[in-house]
Amino acid sequence: MPTTAAKTDYYALLGVRRNASLKEIRGAYRKLARKYHPDLNPGDKSAEEKFKQIQEAYEVLSDPKKRQMYDRLGFYAENPQAGPPGAAGPARDAQFDFGGFEFDPAAAGSSFRDLFSQFFRGARAAHTQAAERAARGEDLEFHLRIGFWDAVRGGVKKLAVSRLVPCKACRGSGLAAAVKRVCSACGGSGRVTQSAGGMRFQMTCNVCGGTGKVGNTCPACEGDGRVTETQTIDVRIPAGVADASRVRVPAHGNAGRFGGPPGDLFIITDVEPHAYFDRRGDDIHTVVPVTVTEASLGTKIEVPTIDGRALLRIPPGTSSGQRFRLRGKGVPSARQGDRRGDQFVEVQVIVPKPVDERVRNLLRELEKLEPEDPRRDLFERAGV
Ligand SMILES: [Zn+2]
Ligand SMILES: [Zn+2]
Repeated sequence: MPTTAAKTDYYALLGVRRNASLKEIRGAYRKLARKYHPDLNPGDKSAEEKFKQIQEAYEVLSDPKKRQMYDRLGFYAENPQAGPPGAAGPARDAQFDFGGFEFDPAAAGSSFRDLFSQFFRGARAAHTQAAERAARGEDLEFHLRIGFWDAVRGGVKKLAVSRLVPCKACRGSGLAAAVKRVCSACGGSGRVTQSAGGMRFQMTCNVCGGTGKVGNTCPACEGDGRVTETQTIDVRIPAGVADASRVRVPAHGNAGRFGGPPGDLFIITDVEPHAYFDRRGDDIHTVVPVTVTEASLGTKIEVPTIDGRALLRIPPGTSSGQRFRLRGKGVPSARQGDRRGDQFVEVQVIVPKPVDERVRNLLRELEKLEPEDPRRDLFERAGV
């Protein structure tokens, strides 16, 4: 016995003539399917119903055998004796199976492919809904301030890390345990059936994310499933750690949501500078003042190093700005075991400011004894 569905005029639905070609039918279907697609009409029940009808019409009219049957009987059914669609169709409720589906995008054309990819996106979105809910926790970044000496010598530093951990009150579900109830969208199965392109898809329910349960938001975590916890962790600092070093501590970032894995924790070092030792990588740069006599006659002086005092020989005739290297007196390499950088010592000649007339006379005497013009070839070099 025919139902209203049986009387549905597929040709009128698609807006094509009864003798329309397959190409015309396909074109009309594409246009209408785009217009009424549920993704484009969220919550619009009449659009959804129209979309289903269009699909049904297209499914039948695009298949010559089915179309012939429809033209003859006024409806199409897998088994004509069983009656029109909508009466019963156990075969049509099959679960969507990628393996059993054949699709020729070249034949269908690009716009159908677009539409199809839309279906797929929808399917994927719902399929991954649970996975999306089960999101990986965010990575966290914390800056660790390290004093100059701690960075040189290494050690253990405490770092307070605030991170999101699973909410104990709702065990990470985000739902208040007391009022959890069966999801009405899927009847608690966690799966819903959607049809697209004349097929039915079994998809994860996006209302409950496949859990089959919904409930009131957990007050402890406001539905996030996670709460903030501050933890103090011990961070081992290798000797010679550089400024802006990045250390990854796996799985110590924010907890994942709804069963997702945790993120990572990244610790970034902020090494404080020293007032005297100018650290550049593994090397140390220092400036040491010497007197004119020391620079001129040469001497041995004590200079500060990160190990304490060290003896530096100033050769006779040293000028201001000259640099000397103390090998292996730099910072230990955090990367290469027992290797150490160097210390560079720049000599700064301090010129006396004579107030005593006798000193001035001595300097004039010196000038006469050893007349020297340090600007001898200066203009030649400058080319002016
Ligand atoms: Zn559900
Ligand atoms: Zn909670």
